[in-house]
Amino acid sequence: MVLVALLAQLDRAFGYEPKGCRFNSCTARTIKMSDIFLKQTKRAQLDSESYLMGQAIKEAKKALKKGEVPVGCVIVKDGKIISRAHNLTVKKNDPTAHAEILALKKAAQKTGNYRLTNCEMYVTIEPCPMCAGAAVWARIKKIIFGVHDEKSGACGSVVNIAGNKKLNHRVEIKSGVFSGKCADLIKEFFKERR
Ligand SMILES: [Zn+2]
Repeated sequence: MVLVALLAQLDRAFGYEPKGCRFNSCTARTIKMSDIFLKQTKRAQLDSESYLMGQAIKEAKKALKKGEVPVGCVIVKDGKIISRAHNLTVKKNDPTAHAEILALKKAAQKTGNYRLTNCEMYVTIEPCPMCAGAAVWARIKKIIFGVHDEKSGACGSVVNIAGNKKLNHRVEIKSGVFSGKCADLIKEFFKERR
């Protein structure tokens, strides 16, 4: 029976070949390969996203150790971190010393350009109006943040400065990357204060 089935399969294969079966199977293989390639690219993107947010979280932990509100930020260009910073408002006695502002300043100094076109900002918490505004002025391409800030978030939670269509530059926004870990840091900070 097995032999008969095999012969029948061979028969069908040879029968189809002149009608373009070889071409079809080749096309199918190409589609499958591009599918695999797309999946791998997507996975690589997610891996790099996780790594970069992990680095922002590392910065936020430094702030926590110093008794600052635990927010961390890294600026990325061509997949590489060009600056990193954490909140230092208490230490610097400066209301503008948010992680994002400090990271933007460092990135601009490093690149020798106040416009950070094609740069991405990874930040543990949704930027406030000041930081979202600074990201717009710096022409940041995309903001990727961990957890939403329902009290002062300016990427959609309270206002939407980063993605505001009326402004001359719009920043792409992605949220929810490691949101649990980012939220835990904030919870830990407030628990220690009680
Ligand atoms: Zn801010």
